[in-house]
Amino acid sequence: MSELYDDPDARYTYRSPLVDRLREAGELQAGRLRLLLPPSFGFCWGVDRALAMVRDARAELGDRPMWLINSIIHNPRVNDDMRRMGIGFLKGPLAEPGAIGRLGPEDVVVVPAFSAEVEEMQLLEQRGVEIVDTTCPWVIKPHKRALKYLREGFTTVVHGTVGHDETRATCSLVRHHGGQYVVVHNMEEAGILADYLEGRIDDATLAAGLHPRAVEPGFDPAGDLRRIGVINQTTMLASESRAISERLRQALLARDGEDGLAESFRDFDTICAATQDNQDAAHLVAGKGPDLFLVVGGYDSSNTRNLARVGDGHQVPAYHIESPEDLDADRLRHRDRDSGEIAEARGWLPSAGPVAVAFTAGASTPDAILGKVVERVVELAGESLPASDTSVADGA
Ligand code: SF4
Repeated sequence: MSELYDDPDARYTYRSPLVDRLREAGELQAGRLRLLLPPSFGFCWGVDRALAMVRDARAELGDRPMWLINSIIHNPRVNDDMRRMGIGFLKGPLAEPGAIGRLGPEDVVVVPAFSAEVEEMQLLEQRGVEIVDTTCPWVIKPHKRALKYLREGFTTVVHGTVGHDETRATCSLVRHHGGQYVVVHNMEEAGILADYLEGRIDDATLAAGLHPRAVEPGFDPAGDLRRIGVINQTTMLASESRAISERLRQALLARDGEDGLAESFRDFDTICAATQDNQDAAHLVAGKGPDLFLVVGGYDSSNTRNLARVGDGHQVPAYHIESPEDLDADRLRHRDRDSGEIAEARGWLPSAGPVAVAFTAGASTPDAILGKVVERVVELAGESLPASDTSVADGA
């Protein structure tokens, strides 16, 4: 059973009474601590749906071997719970060696919310396994747009992360249909691509500036970058996606002129609504000027990483942490936004005086984990939560 709960049913809902209370009130005063929560955070519709589908499949097909291709979502606690439910992993760090080779019609395989590569789906079909496809409908949006670009003769530029499950699936679809793609991770890489489009750098400099797996072998920049269409991994930082698209548009405007641009450039916003809502809400709460912003989610969760960057624009110290175990009285372990390394911050929580702490959580973070983080901060500050009928919002 998950260590988060005593109630075995709770693992399916991942609810937290404390978070429910904070969600309703917006903020709570716990002694010298002011606890702030944005109006939108945490589990998205797509994750809720994926976990419900796994639960239903487990109930209906529980006597058959069940597998996940890889993480169901990017949260280690939730993936641990999958294992406790008897569900195995075919790929990734939790994979059972050789399991893929033994798959057969008795097996049930869950496709995660991010989708899967075409080649993986083909293998599952060849093996005759029963597929439970939890692919989020929002993830289908960039897939459809990439195929539309391909039909119209455009190379897809993905603002995303090479190796992220969703972007791997999108790129595999383009590859499978004989198209080309380029993945740019950030404004720096987009700038290099833009420099190439403007004729400022050569093929070798372009290749050196991008991730080694940003394009397919055989990618021909001169031919394949004549016409480009931009999409985003659904969980990227929306403001950065817009800036990248505009940078590439300007480059093609310089290269092709106004008339040519209509023939050489397309873009389409494929950020999902849940990601957008959580980012907008994080801006709201960061704008209240908290002393500290704790962003809770798996270190490999793309949308959580991007939520942690929202604080930058508000000059609020923001830390991406994974769980309450990342917090000690003097030490805070977090994922550094720039280097991506796990780092430590000291003296993160003032030992006296009023402190406003804002929290948010990524789309793959259960409320239960966020609730434990809030409790941990209150405990480390030497305070206690107010009785449940008092809050700042209701005038207490
Ligand atoms: S973050 Fe968006 S795309 Fe991803 S599962 Fe949730 S709703 Fe779907």
